[in-house]
Amino acid sequence: MSLPAPAGLLLLFLLALPPLPCPRAAPTEEKSPVVITLPGDALSPLSDRELAARYLQRYGYLEATNPEAQVMLETPLKAMQKRLGLPETGELDAPTLTAMRTPRCGVPDVGRYKTFEGDLKWDHTDLTYRVDNHSPDLDGSIIEDTFARAFDVWSQVTPLTFTRQQDGEVDILIQFGTRDHGDHLSFDGEYGVLAHAFVPGNTPLNGDAHFDDDEFWTLGRGVVVKTHFGNADGSLCHFPFVFDGKSYSSCTTEGREDGLPWCATTPNFDQDKTYGFCPNELLFTYDGNSNGARCVFPFVFEGKSYQGCTTDGRTDGYRWCATTANFDQDKKYGLCPNRDTAVTGGNSQGEPCAFPFNLGGRSYSSCTTEGRDDGRFWCATTSDFDTDQKWGFCPGEGISLFVAAAHEFGHSLGLNHSSIREALMYPSYPDQADFQLHADDIEGIQYLYGQNTGAQYQAPISPSQARTEDEDSSSVVDEALDFF
Ligand SMILES: [Zn+2]
Ligand SMILES: [Zn+2]
Repeated sequence: MSLPAPAGLLLLFLLALPPLPCPRAAPTEEKSPVVITLPGDALSPLSDRELAARYLQRYGYLEATNPEAQVMLETPLKAMQKRLGLPETGELDAPTLTAMRTPRCGVPDVGRYKTFEGDLKWDHTDLTYRVDNHSPDLDGSIIEDTFARAFDVWSQVTPLTFTRQQDGEVDILIQFGTRDHGDHLSFDGEYGVLAHAFVPGNTPLNGDAHFDDDEFWTLGRGVVVKTHFGNADGSLCHFPFVFDGKSYSSCTTEGREDGLPWCATTPNFDQDKTYGFCPNELLFTYDGNSNGARCVFPFVFEGKSYQGCTTDGRTDGYRWCATTANFDQDKKYGLCPNRDTAVTGGNSQGEPCAFPFNLGGRSYSSCTTEGRDDGRFWCATTSDFDTDQKWGFCPGEGISLFVAAAHEFGHSLGLNHSSIREALMYPSYPDQADFQLHADDIEGIQYLYGQNTGAQYQAPISPSQARTEDEDSSSVVDEALDFF
């Protein structure tokens, strides 16, 4: 992926100090676009064949091999096509390539199978879970509520109960992380793998669910902004809202002198006057060790003074700040909440758009597709893109944490992937963020745990009936086998 910029920008790019990203291809004539290679885009574009080899290997259809090696893909392709309910052509046709490019769960479709007798399932029904950390994309209370609702999806159709614990040992530990996050199953940046989970068992990792925090986590319909303070009792922002006769689609500092962004929680502030403040590091932090205290600017870290949140000193990309003036001395810190316009990807992950920003001598006060041929909206994260070249993609619909969590918890309970596209346990992220459990999901989970009432006994449906005719589909993916 690259960002072609208008030709007029070239001079400015060349004048800039060693920029990240660097201009790669200079225009040969006046009208040619400048092509900038962006960090994180180095892996693409893969050829279709490379993409296929990596996909087939990653999800268990192909033995580990050099993805560039000339390998016969027909047989593994057919297996993959069968598993995902696609026409079994054995060729890299359009539906197959589309499926390979769709964000999905990281648990392999063809796993290393269980080595013990019986199904991989919990031996008790009163399961416990703990949410270890939060994503900057959503308020902590919304994250907790979303996970509770995702567990409820499964408890409604089984005798299972899920109790949240604040600390200590639990069956299902839930974590957000990026890239290498401690289990040797690295995440891959935005899109691609969204999350993964481990089957039931007795090792610390068993049952755990991990979510890739390079995704933009929402409830599936764009940014969700919970307000703080104000007079709306923590209600969500309502976008767009009208203030002083003007429409706003993001939090604004208009009408305030303290620079704190706010939003209305109904469509019309002029009429209803209900509002709250938007997440901001000057109001609070999350996680860390400061119990939510606000950032203190400037603060000193390793002898250097910081005027804003930073990712310095962390390898996971999370933005943080000190909550006293001197971190070196006090070691008190918290993670910075994302603003509602926080970008993904680019070279400024988590930073808010800086409106208005200069681009090619023009001023932009909203996200733009300028210079891109893929139609994705982006913004600069400093006021002058021409000089600073700091940018990222504007928040879109995002990935529904509820859908992803309900799917991953299916793995945490012992379910494998389904070949039925409408099933929650289908490996790819669905087109629609709304879902109901499919009969296939229900049959699978009830095969393992029975129904939710003891009143009526129904003979369990065999997994080969319930899921696919594929012989190995009744086995439970045992991605955690390495850890036994
Ligand atoms: Zn999955
Ligand atoms: Zn993981």
